[in-house]
Amino acid sequence: MKSGWVDSEAQAAIDRYAGEGIGRDLALRVYTTRLLGRDPKLVLHGGGNTSVKTTMADLLGEQVAVLCVKGSGSDMATIEPADLPAVRLDRLRKLRARAALSDEDMVRIQRDGLLEPAAPNPSVETLLHAFLPHKFVDHTHANAILSIVDQPDGEAICAELYDGRASVVPYVMPGFGLAKTAADIYDCEPAVEGLILHKHGIFTFGDSAREAYERMIALVTLAEQRLQKNRKAVFVTAQLPQAIAPLAAVAPILRGACSRKDERIEGAWHRMILDFRTSSAILNFVNGGELVRYSQPGVVTPDHTIRTKNWPLVTAAPERERTDDFKRATRAAVTAFVQRYEEYFARQNARTGGIKRPLDPLPRVALVPGLGLFGLGRSKKDARIAADLAQCAAEIITDAEAIGRFESISEAEMFDMEYWSLEQARLGRAAEKPLAGQVTVITGAGGTIGVATAKAFAAAGAEVALLELDERAAEDSAKAIGGAALAVQCDVTSARSVSDAFAQVVAAFGGVDIVVSNAGAAWQGRIGEVDEEVLRKSFEVNFYGHQRVAQAAVKIMLAQGTGGCLLFNVSKQAVNPGPNFGPYGLPKAATLFLVRQYAVDYGADGIRANAVNADRIRSGLLTDAFIAERAKARGVSEKDYLSGNLLGREVTADDVAQAFLHQALELKTTGDVTTVDGGNIAAALR
Ligand SMILES: [Zn+2]
Repeated sequence: MKSGWVDSEAQAAIDRYAGEGIGRDLALRVYTTRLLGRDPKLVLHGGGNTSVKTTMADLLGEQVAVLCVKGSGSDMATIEPADLPAVRLDRLRKLRARAALSDEDMVRIQRDGLLEPAAPNPSVETLLHAFLPHKFVDHTHANAILSIVDQPDGEAICAELYDGRASVVPYVMPGFGLAKTAADIYDCEPAVEGLILHKHGIFTFGDSAREAYERMIALVTLAEQRLQKNRKAVFVTAQLPQAIAPLAAVAPILRGACSRKDERIEGAWHRMILDFRTSSAILNFVNGGELVRYSQPGVVTPDHTIRTKNWPLVTAAPERERTDDFKRATRAAVTAFVQRYEEYFARQNARTGGIKRPLDPLPRVALVPGLGLFGLGRSKKDARIAADLAQCAAEIITDAEAIGRFESISEAEMFDMEYWSLEQARLGRAAEKPLAGQVTVITGAGGTIGVATAKAFAAAGAEVALLELDERAAEDSAKAIGGAALAVQCDVTSARSVSDAFAQVVAAFGGVDIVVSNAGAAWQGRIGEVDEEVLRKSFEVNFYGHQRVAQAAVKIMLAQGTGGCLLFNVSKQAVNPGPNFGPYGLPKAATLFLVRQYAVDYGADGIRANAVNADRIRSGLLTDAFIAERAKARGVSEKDYLSGNLLGREVTADDVAQAFLHQALELKTTGDVTTVDGGNIAAALR
């Protein structure tokens, strides 16, 4: 591992922050914190923290000695000075004299010492930073260190490897107890450059930012070199089927198996989003004959538990052509996983006084031999974090097994960490949105109604995939939505293109729950004279396009076994034909019937089918030029043309989007058509 320190960049950080009134100490603290944070072999997703001891003016303008320490939940790779709240150092240091300190008191005293009352909570490892005497203190969960300490004899290996350069601290849960233990051990050997925390990570320290940082690099490099010595070949591959089922077939089965019925609302499911990873290193890990032995001992460092749970789900290898077997085996594996988790909770909760409430028992990581690994979460973001940590754990365990045998902390220690209120607080407690955990596919997503619908569903918490003929329009829509929106090129007149697009959605999110089949195009012609080719073209888009999309979605929904929702953009034309608009209205009328056929054929599978009948929406079909032309032809203003309905109100794409959203949320409604046209009695359904 190489040092990333560059004198000119350090100076640039000092100069840049000086302009904002930030002193040299904090500027350099930010600089090396980012150096650590940008290397995934040192730091991932909120793991690790840093501090600097300096002086600052308080709100009264008086200079006080402070510890600027990373705030809980900030990202070291992109940290800013405000993410390192300043806490009065004397107050923190006084706490070392205490015999015990509750977590609640620790948090309150730390907050009470903040110079800025609105600052984020200081890290849960703040006291450890405060009790060490050095100006700069750096802490990471470096992969190489974990591969060495996550061993039965990890302490002995480190004592030999770091002889005199670093002291070894036995495993103690983070918080006050660890801070005191680590400081006491440091005091016995004050010349060391760092502390190795058994089963947890590493601290280094120094008088300058550069010294603390480069000691981190040096001590981690020693661990990396140790891992290259006397390696065993890992792992011996298990017997796997000749042909492995593709991701597009496996993910919906896994996703369905990892969903749970919401007992409070009939028809509702608690679903997960999936994030898939594979590589030769991951395959080497998941294909090992002893996967169950080395994947199950527990987490590689304690704070992973809130993201990954203590152990991953291990499935059977999915054999091509035998996906029904895989489905049965995976459901059984998830049932066993949930039972194991519930027993673990009951056992450990009884040990700690029976006051904890159980978290959901579903897996957050799944290992699939022959294929790769999945992270699971209630959002794409959470699934990605779980997958990142799982991938990192696979690398750490592989190296641990290459020089010895992987071992984690005990079950009781994992429970104390998983159910530690300060850890759970890091996840935040925002109320979940109504479509959290659900994947929505929208076709015609580059158009006005498509974009409005995508925004409405994303705002309701769904992950959205935007399918559009024009790839650039899909990407523009995805940018407009932001977050994890996925843009996919899709031509609904091609069965191949539709199935490829759905495979991409499944690869990105694990499956599909809601489809808004919205792609359409308009053709005109007097029906007795229109060219048959025109009619056929319109049917390809306005009928078969919907059928292809619905068919692809239903296949995935049946594999998941958690129901689903098909929504179709029909048209007023389907019930109230306009003159010379037959080529558009006829396939739309067939699509209206298609909705009812899906409602009938798949109701028993929990798949609902509904439609929205909209009229006169300003869009790609009803362009401004077209509106001007029609208004002129009728001798009315454009405004009057657009609001020529019973309510006298212009209907917008947002109104259509809200109608689709309602239909997605109405769990007891299928075969329904919602009219969004401001009132047109001639188009009313009877
Ligand atoms: Zn830590």
